[in-house]
Amino acid sequence: MIYLKNPEQIKKMQIAGRITGEALLLAGEAVREGISTQSLDKIIRNHIEKCGAKPSFLGYGGFPASACISVNDEVIHGIPSPKRILHEGDIVKIDVGAYIGGFHGDSARTFAVGKISDEAQRLIDVTRESFFEAIKVLENPGARVGDIGSAVDGHVSKFGYSVVKKYVGHGVGRELHEDPSVPNYGTPGRGQRITEGMVFAIEPMVNEGVSAVRELSDGWTVLTADGKLSSHYEHTVAITENGPILLTKVD
Ligand code: MG
Ligand code: MG
Repeated sequence: MIYLKNPEQIKKMQIAGRITGEALLLAGEAVREGISTQSLDKIIRNHIEKCGAKPSFLGYGGFPASACISVNDEVIHGIPSPKRILHEGDIVKIDVGAYIGGFHGDSARTFAVGKISDEAQRLIDVTRESFFEAIKVLENPGARVGDIGSAVDGHVSKFGYSVVKKYVGHGVGRELHEDPSVPNYGTPGRGQRITEGMVFAIEPMVNEGVSAVRELSDGWTVLTADGKLSSHYEHTVAITENGPILLTKVD
C-alpha cells in the first residue's frame, strides 16, 4: 500500500531529508586515504544525533551501524569497521538515513578516495546522470514507475554498464522502506502511476560489469558477482504539485 504525504508531512520529511543530506556530505568531505569506514560512520552518527534525529539504519533488521559504507566491488550494505581503511584509488559508497518528526530520509553517494581511474570516475558520473534522467521523467504528468527504471537502465546501458536488479528503490515515509518498489529497470508506460504526494527513493546501483551480485558471509555486504566496480546514487524524492523535489539534496 502506498501512503501519500500531504504538504505538511512533506515539510517534515524535508527536515529528515536535510539532516540526511548534511550527514552524507560531511562524511564525503572526510573521505581520504587512511581513514576507516568506522570513522566515517561516527561522523554521520554524530551529525544526525546533534540534530536531534536518529540514524535510520542503526538496528534496522539488526544492522550494527549508522551508515552502510561499501568499497569498490561492494555494492551496498557494507558494514563500517575500524579495520576497513580507505586507499587511494578506491571508490566508496556511503548510504545514510535520518529519522526525525516521524519520518525518514534516505540518500547515498559514491566518493573518490584521492585520485581514481578515469574508468571509475566515468562509472560514478554515469550513475549520477542516470538518476537525473529519471528525475526528467517525473516532470511528465502521467509518468509511471516503469518510466523511471527505463530511464536509468537506458542511460547506463549506453556505456556498457548494468543496473543491479536484485535491489531496488522504494517508497520512504514513516517507514524507511515503503511501497512502491522502484526498480532501476522497467518498461516505459508500465507500473504504478506517479501521483502528487508520493515520496520515494530513486537509487541507481550501477555495475561496471555484470548485473549479478552475491552476498558476503557477514549476512549484509552485497558485492558484484564478477568483482568489478559498482556505484550508487540516491535521493529521497517527493512528488508535489510543483513537480519533483529532492528532499535529501543539500549541495
Ligand atoms: Mg539508501
Ligand atoms: Mg534506499
